[in-house]
Order: sequence, then structure tokens, then C-alpha cells
Amino acid sequence: VLCVSQDFDFFYFVQQWPGSYCDSSSSRCCYPTTGKPAADFGIHGLWPNYNDGSYPQNCDSNNPFDGSKISDLISSMRRNWPTLACPSGSGETFWSHEWEKHGTCSESVFDQHSYFETTLGLKQQTNLLQALKTAGIKPDGKKYSLGDIKDAIKEGTGYTPWIECNQDSSGNSQLYQVYLCLDNSGSSLIECPVFPKGKKCGSAIEFPIF
Ligand code: 5GP
Ligand code: 5GP
Repeated sequence: VLCVSQDFDFFYFVQQWPGSYCDSSSSRCCYPTTGKPAADFGIHGLWPNYNDGSYPQNCDSNNPFDGSKISDLISSMRRNWPTLACPSGSGETFWSHEWEKHGTCSESVFDQHSYFETTLGLKQQTNLLQALKTAGIKPDGKKYSLGDIKDAIKEGTGYTPWIECNQDSSGNSQLYQVYLCLDNSGSSLIECPVFPKGKKCGSAIEFPIF
């Protein structure tokens, strides 16, 4: 094909720290029905985006989430993509939301199986917790600088992340989500063309225990 119009420009691959979801002032958390997740980053999603910062959503109501298409991935999904929202669930509601809102906008490159399989692979590839630990940054409830966190992830993954913070119940800024970027063919990590608009993290960021 000589000319294909691109339906999006790149993906955000977003991972969340469960300790920061759970102790935040703005949300409660509920462990999945399958048990407390590991003390590791979990996947939030893989989101098609445009270079101007906007993004498509809910692109194909004719292709709803179908758990039977990813039955071979379920045990890995439970371990790596746990839901922390209340009420407790198995994860299917979260995965269904992510596929229908974001995944359906990537149908030019992924079907349901490859969308979830690729996202699971990115978590293994990026290994954020190891990258941070290698730099001495641990989920011990202590504070670390934004620059040190970003440098550690850049060193470990090869790419500069965007860090999103939230607040614990005492108002401390803490490490909540890490954004990395994937090219629009879904095959390689890239430097993010644009970072999400968001609040400052503060210079000292708590990395809470989970
Ligand atoms: P998104 O930000 O992907 O558009 O929407 C996230 C939705 O998934 C919210 O409605 C949220 O309640 C739900 N959800 C379910 N489990 C989780 C979770 O573990 N983390 C986050 N961030 N959202 C979750
Ligand atoms: P610079 O990248 O120029 O050092 O940062 C500009 C501003 O953006 C600073 O206020 C800095 O704290 C903030 N900033 C830099 N990187 C991040 C990040 O990954 N997440 C958030 N939330 N703010 C950032």
C-alpha cells in the first residue's frame, strides 16, 4: 500500500504502583477476588494517542471485549494487570474497559489477543521495579527525587518516562503512574512525542509500601 492514513500517532503504555492507588486520598482500593496483587507495578493500559495530546476512544462498539479470546493469557493478566477498583472483581471489568475505550482504537495493528499479549510483554520488557531497585529506589515509604526516579527508569528501559503523582492521605506527593511510549505499529518503545499534561509531582516523591 502506498499511502495509509494513520489513525493515531503513538501509544502510551501506562503502569501503576498499587501502593499509591490504595493509600491515595482520592480513591479507596479493593483487592481482586483472586487475591492481593504482588508488590510490583501493574498495567493500567496501552492507549493510542495523537501528537497534539488528544486521543481517540471507544472506536468500535462492534468489537466488544471477549474473555474467551484471551483465555491463554488469563493467569498472566491476573498477575500483571490486576484491578484495584472497588468493588472487588476478577479483572474482566477493567480489561473490558481498557479494550473497549482504548484497544478498539488500535484495531489497525492489534486484535484483542495481540493487544493484551503485547501489553503484557511490555511490562516484562520494561521491568520498572527492577530498574528502580538497581538505583536504590525502593517501595519503602521514603521520599526520592523526581529526577532520580526518571533517571533510574531511563537507565533501565532506555527511555525517558513521564511520572504522574497522586497524594496520600496526609497530602504527600507519591509515585502513582509511569508513562512510556510505543510506536504506532506497536513494535518498539520510543521516546514520547509529547508528555501528558499534568500537575507537578513536587521535588520529593514518596514511594509507598504495598
Ligand atoms: P482509563 O483511565 O483507562 O480511561 O479508565 C480507568 C477506569 O478503569 C476507571 O473507570 C477505573 O475505575 C477503572 N479501573 C478498574 N481497576 C482499576 C485500577 O486498578 N486502576 C485504575 N487506574 N483504574 C481502574
Ligand atoms: P524539566 O523537565 O524542564 O526539568 O521540568 C519542567 C517542570 O516539569 C518541572 O516543574 C518539573 O518538576 C516538571 N516535570 C518534569 N518531569 C516530570 C514528570 O515526569 N512528571 C511530572 N508530573 N512533572 C515533571
